[in-house]
Amino acid sequence: MNKAVVGILGGGPAGMSCALWLKHLGLSPIIIERNAALGGQLPDIHRINRWVLGLPSRTGPELAKLYSNHITEENIPVNYNARLTAVEATAVGYRLILQEADETQTSIRVQALVIATGLQAQGIEVFGKTPELDLLYARGLIGCHPTDHLDKLECLRGKTVAVIGGGDNAYFTVKDVAAVAARTHLIIRSRPQAQNTIRREVKTLIDLGLVIEYRETQVETFRPSQDGIEICLNQLGSTSVKIKVDKVFTRTGFTPNTKFLGSLGPLANIDKQVRGYLSTDSRKRTSVDSVYAIGDVASPNVQSVVTAIAEGAIAARAIAEDIGTRE
Ligand SMILES: Cc1cc2nc3c(=O)[nH]c(=O)nc-3n(C[C@H](O)[C@H](O)[C@H](O)COP(=O)(O)OP(=O)(O)OC[C@H]3O[C@@H](n4cnc5c(N)ncnc54)[C@H](O)[C@@H]3O)c2cc1C
Repeated sequence: MNKAVVGILGGGPAGMSCALWLKHLGLSPIIIERNAALGGQLPDIHRINRWVLGLPSRTGPELAKLYSNHITEENIPVNYNARLTAVEATAVGYRLILQEADETQTSIRVQALVIATGLQAQGIEVFGKTPELDLLYARGLIGCHPTDHLDKLECLRGKTVAVIGGGDNAYFTVKDVAAVAARTHLIIRSRPQAQNTIRREVKTLIDLGLVIEYRETQVETFRPSQDGIEICLNQLGSTSVKIKVDKVFTRTGFTPNTKFLGSLGPLANIDKQVRGYLSTDSRKRTSVDSVYAIGDVASPNVQSVVTAIAEGAIAARAIAEDIGTRE
């Protein structure tokens, strides 16, 4: 009997782990990845990941290489640079229509589909669209990528920098930037959401006068000034404050990669939870038959490499059982 084919949309840690488990459970996984390489967010995270048991000192790119090599060694097929353009329900699953890298169209019949499409960082659109903002962004004075400050940290030496956001990524950015900048403004719309450990580290920098923290503070406008950017802030219960900075890093959170599902037939009906994250049961089944969701795209609260990998395993077990029951 032919092995059941399972399509996995997204080749980050969750998708790769699910593929590995499916293969060893006797199924035939195929990864569909929109980029030219596996790894998801990992290739862009150059910090040491201290949260993976047994691998204490690997950076994101090192982990990505380790995981993608494993997929290659296991001969698990990957469609790189592929885009899912349509999904049709069949008697035993789905027909996936893909636009391949060379613009040709192919189709794959799968008995189950796993969505592991992760997150993307929010950009300047969260501040509303203004010509001034577009101009500052185009000039490279505003950065939105989660770790873009690391690329040119030395250029920030002696400068004044604003970091906008109150989560882990904002606080880690502040810690990195404050090591070189003369002054770093941390602007938080509501209250800090970051882990206590990094907040304590930033508190030390605040006490040293290197960082100024603004809570419950909204950015009203960004304007280009002669020598940088003027930001107008509105602090709850007080008047507006203007600060001048040389560079801004926005760290305003992430959105799940789920919008594209809206045009994909049956996938448009998957139930969602807060902020567009996909809803699943404890075995990672979504509300649509034979469709599963794993990793960051279905986890608004815990986003990490090890939980993504674990969810890949949980879904693979459920898929093997569900297909076995149907057969
Ligand atoms: C700045 C930063 C620091 C972090 N630090 C740590 C840390 O120290 N420790 C830790 O454990 N975790 C950390 N994380 C979180 C960790 O990287 C994620 O939790 C993990 O990568 C999630 O894996 P995933 O497979 O669910 O999603 P992702 O890694 O986002 O992978 C999703 C994949 O799906 C692909 N994709 C998206 N849409 C489509 C589509 N329509 N079709 C096909 N493919 C698609 C993407 O190209 C991507 O390859 C950090 C994240 C960031 C941003």
